[in-house]
Amino acid sequence: MHQERNSTKGSILFVDDDTSVSNIMSRMIKEFGHQVDVAGSGEEALERIRQRDYDIVITDIRLPGIDGMRVLEEILVISPETDVIAVTGYGSIESAVEFMKAGALDYLTKPINGDHLEMVIRKAMERKDLIKAARERDYYLKMSLTDALTGIFNHRYFQQQITREITKSIRSGESLSMMMLDIDDFKHINDTFGHQAGDQVLRDLSDNLGKSCRFYDIITRYGGEEFAVIMPSTSVGNAVKIARRILENVSSQVHSSIQRPITLSIGISNYPLHASCKEDLIRKADLALYNSKARGKNTYTVYSESLSTPA
Ligand code: GH3
Ligand code: MG
Ligand code: MG
Repeated sequence: MHQERNSTKGSILFVDDDTSVSNIMSRMIKEFGHQVDVAGSGEEALERIRQRDYDIVITDIRLPGIDGMRVLEEILVISPETDVIAVTGYGSIESAVEFMKAGALDYLTKPINGDHLEMVIRKAMERKDLIKAARERDYYLKMSLTDALTGIFNHRYFQQQITREITKSIRSGESLSMMMLDIDDFKHINDTFGHQAGDQVLRDLSDNLGKSCRFYDIITRYGGEEFAVIMPSTSVGNAVKIARRILENVSSQVHSSIQRPITLSIGISNYPLHASCKEDLIRKADLALYNSKARGKNTYTVYSESLSTPA
């Protein structure tokens, strides 16, 4: 009486030197809907595992030659995604415990009970499904926050993190700086060297920003040829140091696609020194950036009150 579940059907290797046991068990496993191979020794098991991936290996602990423990140890190295289930004689629970300490997922006792066998396999497969789903979730979450061209974080991530960092700043009382960076005359670069060369410049620049900033600075592509960096727990003075370092590093980086360096303009703002909310902080970094452009580009500007008032 086996309940139908939606869990994935697995590929299973059953290892036992007693063929009468293997025959009965493999027939049962097939009835549960899984694919099953049989190995009569540890050597044969390892050979099969090297040839293909199994979801689960069910192995007797006591085998002539290479024993179950060695099989387990090898599997952990060759095929770490494979779950190992130990089979132990009734009354030798200690060896099952040793097996699980060494990395086995579960164990069965001989004589193997069919319902128990089905449950152990089903649980192992359900666990695999959950791990796979979690990995996929992580993958898609990461994709949704990553810029496809450069591989750095995107605008959405910037918006999430700036909100988060402001909250943290309120709690800690430490100020937070951000900068907005825009490539100078990028349109000209595209027009002269082509869009693909421009794309490569964007990728190179992303790498360069990674090297110029500190590891806890959050570097994002804000959009187009504009980048935004969030600098947690950073005073204006320290933000200026980083901006200077970026300008220096960028001006000395010769891009292979255009055979020369580029320049950037930067605007810096600080929370809570210049702004009382996220939108204001971004707007003021933008204003400062605009001022860098107006002053001839290839420079940085820290936001100040005078920038807001039209000349
Ligand atoms: P400024 O010095 O004032 O910033 O001038 P600019 O030419 O850099 O600025 P503008 O805003 O006029 O042009 C930006 C250019 O960036 C136009 C657009 O085609 C280009 N651009 C935006 N995104 C990409 C991209 O993903 N790849 C490439 N190759 N170019 C891009
Ligand atoms: Mg721009
Ligand atoms: Mg530009």
